[in-house]
Parts: sequence; C-alpha cells; structure tokens
Amino acid sequence: MTHPTPLTPPVTLLRERALARTVALWSSPLDGDGCPAWIESTDRECGKPQTVGLLCPRHAKVAERRFAAEVAKRQAESEKRAAERARLLPIKQARLAQVEAEMARLDPPRPADRAAYTGYVHPSITKKRRRFLSDSRVSRMAALVEEHRSLTAWLGGDAA
Ligand SMILES: [Zn+2]
Repeated sequence: MTHPTPLTPPVTLLRERALARTVALWSSPLDGDGCPAWIESTDRECGKPQTVGLLCPRHAKVAERRFAAEVAKRQAESEKRAAERARLLPIKQARLAQVEAEMARLDPPRPADRAAYTGYVHPSITKKRRRFLSDSRVSRMAALVEEHRSLTAWLGGDAA
C-alpha cells in the first residue's frame, strides 16, 4: 500500500518558508501576494511576483545563499560542541571514578547490609555507624552525591 499523500510537499513548504524567513522581516506574513523580502534601502517589501517558492528570483538567490550560510554555521557549531565534549569526556569519566572511589571509602559496604532487607540492625552496629558518619563525613558525602549526580547527567550513556 502506498501513502495516500506524498511526503514531499510539506517538506518543500517548510523549506520555502524557511528560505523566505532569511530575507523577510520576522513580523511579516509570508503568505501575502508578492515576494515578502524586505528591502532595507527603500524600507519596504519587494512585492514582485512569487515565482520561486514564496520569493522572486532575485531574492530566492539571496535566500539560498543565506540559508546555506546558516546551515554551515550550525554545522560548525555542532562540530565545535562535539569536539568540546570529546575533550571533556575522559576528564569527567576520570572524575566520576574518583568520586565513586571516595564515596566507597566514606561509606564502605557494611557487613550489616542484610539489615537493609530484614529491617533489623543490631544496636552495636548502629552505634558504630553513627560514630563513623560524623557530620563532616555526612556533608562531604552529600557533596559527593551531588557531584556524582551532575557528572552522570553530563555523561549520560558515556558514564559507564
Ligand atoms: Zn523579491
């Protein structure tokens, strides 16, 4: 079975509107009668017949040039962001490993982990843990947990 309406027209319309936006004022409606390109020198819209999409041939050329420049600019920005991420990735991964190691040191796996399931903790263990988790350790741990959260959010799928 074929799609009842071809997909190309809406894409073409979007592209035509995007092209027209590169030469028209932001406030100007694009579906008027003439070419909506704004002409700075005369302070008015072009108004010539719309023969190439929504534009006249001259402004269609200008729009294509601006559109291509904008695409190239976005491409360059995206490549720059990707390069910056690639540069930071090993640094953030190494920091995550440090944070996790310090968290494990501050709060080592306890022999009473079973208590997490049974709900029972021997009073002597609770006492020891209270002493172990001094205020400074607790606040350091809170800072580490926050840094861990922020690092894993930044790293996303690269956290492993
Ligand atoms: Zn025009």
